[in-house]
Amino acid sequence: MVEIDLDHIYKKYPNAEDAGYAVADFDLHIKDKEFIVFVGPSGCGKSTTLRMIAGLEDISQGDLKIDGKLMNDEAPKDRNIAMVFQNYALYPHMSVFDNMAFGLKLRKYDKSEITKRVDYAGEVLGLTDYLDRKPADLSGGQRQRVALGRAIVRDAPIFLMDEPLSNLDAKLRVSMRAEIAKLHQRLNTTTIYVTHDQTEAMTMADRIVVMSMGEVQQIGTPSEVYDTP
Ligand code: ADP
Ligand code: ADP
Repeated sequence: MVEIDLDHIYKKYPNAEDAGYAVADFDLHIKDKEFIVFVGPSGCGKSTTLRMIAGLEDISQGDLKIDGKLMNDEAPKDRNIAMVFQNYALYPHMSVFDNMAFGLKLRKYDKSEITKRVDYAGEVLGLTDYLDRKPADLSGGQRQRVALGRAIVRDAPIFLMDEPLSNLDAKLRVSMRAEIAKLHQRLNTTTIYVTHDQTEAMTMADRIVVMSMGEVQQIGTPSEVYDTP
């Protein structure tokens, strides 16, 4: 059971030119296994909020709680979070297997556990027959799946995704959208997905958080947000 509380979160970058907040008064309770989408134009604070949850950016003000525990000062590795970035850099000289196994090797997981997890991710993502290939020999969609695989092998209850599909062409984006939705059903993670694409938000989210200029404009289900009478 994983719930995330964002309790009146603010972010001001120390080097910011203006005096404003990149994120102001972000307040949200995320339920166990929810699929939340942050949507809004470039620069509205989506990524900053996600990075604060991951611990990759300090919180200026407010509390972040995971299952009721204050996390503001916890190291990223102690947050039980897996993250997928927009610019997934795969290691070109490594096989698909090794790309997915890399983080686990760093963390000194034993070999059988690594193999078990990578095989599982490969199966979930339809990459079983590609584990020995190099990234250059894969399609764009398959490469994106390897990036997802790297997150899946962490076996974390929280998944954060920052515009994971924005570098893919339109057709691939649509099919990957459906795959990620299915993946969420299967892995049962509490997920936050960042996008500037309203269609993605509408088709994937349990609840959408609409952001603008660092502030939350609206929170609701897709029909509450987009079916304006
Ligand atoms: P989004 O993800 O919605 O595109 P960001 O969270 O990246 O928005 O950015 C929110 C605001 O914070 C923007 O005004 C951006 O310029 C600013 N910002 C983002 N990262 C930094 C940084 N490292 N230093 C200073 N300002 C930043
Ligand atoms: P990875 O092995 O997953 O690539 P690193 O060990 O290089 O990650 O990153 C150091 C810390 O940064 C990790 O302990 C983790 O908390 C955070 N981090 C980096 N990449 C990720 C990721 N894909 N998912 C979650 N956290 C990450």
